[in-house]
Amino acid sequence: MRRRAIDAMLPVYTEFYGNPSGAHRMARAANHLLDDARDVISGALGTEPGRIVFTAGGTEADNLAVRGVVDAVGGVAVCSAIEHHAVLDPVEHLGGRVVAVGPDGRLDLDALAEALDDSVSIVSIMLANNETGIVQPLAEAIEVVRRLAPDAVVHTDAVQALSWLDVAQAAAEADLISISAHKFGGPKGVGALVVGERARLSPLFRGGGQERDRRGGTQNVPGIAAMAAAAEELLADRASALARVAALRDRLADGIRDTVDGVVESGVPERDRSHKTANISHLCFAGVESEALLFLLEERDIMASAASSCASGAQDPSHVLAAMGLDRATAAGSLRLSLGYDTTDADIDAALDVIPAAVAQLRGRR
Ligand code: PLP
Repeated sequence: MRRRAIDAMLPVYTEFYGNPSGAHRMARAANHLLDDARDVISGALGTEPGRIVFTAGGTEADNLAVRGVVDAVGGVAVCSAIEHHAVLDPVEHLGGRVVAVGPDGRLDLDALAEALDDSVSIVSIMLANNETGIVQPLAEAIEVVRRLAPDAVVHTDAVQALSWLDVAQAAAEADLISISAHKFGGPKGVGALVVGERARLSPLFRGGGQERDRRGGTQNVPGIAAMAAAAEELLADRASALARVAALRDRLADGIRDTVDGVVESGVPERDRSHKTANISHLCFAGVESEALLFLLEERDIMASAASSCASGAQDPSHVLAAMGLDRATAAGSLRLSLGYDTTDADIDAALDVIPAAVAQLRGRR
């Protein structure tokens, strides 16, 4: 977590302990913190404070969008095949439609057009994919939706995007936007959903009427204050962090490609990574099992994953790589390396020392 986010949390436990829904002075002080946080988060997302619903993370925000809309207005939910399970599973559970992506990992706009008709009430297209970092053609997708399913609202899961993209601009036309604090240096279990004026939504949790009746339950004030502090710091230095981290990511990916044979960088056939977020390097090593590679890397202090961390440990190849048409054998050797705002040159040197050697060691064993 960003130090500033931790510092923002602590006084909420000690000084501002009131319940923000109460009427007394302590309650009002806690409620002020929520107001301040709503201002920061709405600014980051290009909306008004009243449109922010605080949630317990990205999964809840995604579920609230998809299930909330279908519960309120009925109709069919549509999403892309590479969504995080927090979107994909509710869409499938509701009997919705799943739209293909191309081998480049980007939504197939023709397939989207085919999936749309008047019965569709919500379309969910993520802004950036969590396994590959590939940025989706959201603005183009929204144009297609407005044309072919004009009553549908568009949700975007911006959980992976906020650190690396100007979400306010990239998702300006979206009706619903999800974020999650732990992706930008805030705590886990806190997030938010933007609910735009076109969106009608039923709450997932009914209760005390908090969050304008859209999310019952006493708000996680320390977590929300910390999320806002993390967002503030992020916005202050996003542009410079982005350039710095993208250069580190390029050095990492190029360094591996230069020294290891039989490696595929997902969605990056040439070395142009301008369509990706700055932080993710996703590589598949022929003749290597991800699990064995992750084990060797962990022994050498590199904490990585094969796909989404929520899915690692699972035997099946990632649904994202399968949707991109990667064959099982290639996908079996996948490695996702994530960088953060605090990744250093020395971290990249260490990774370049360890990863090619680990791949060679595993190939030597075969
Ligand atoms: N959506 C995306 C794209 C994610 O990467 C994640 C988490 O990894 C989530 C949703 C879920 O967010 P949370 O872990 O806050 O529930």
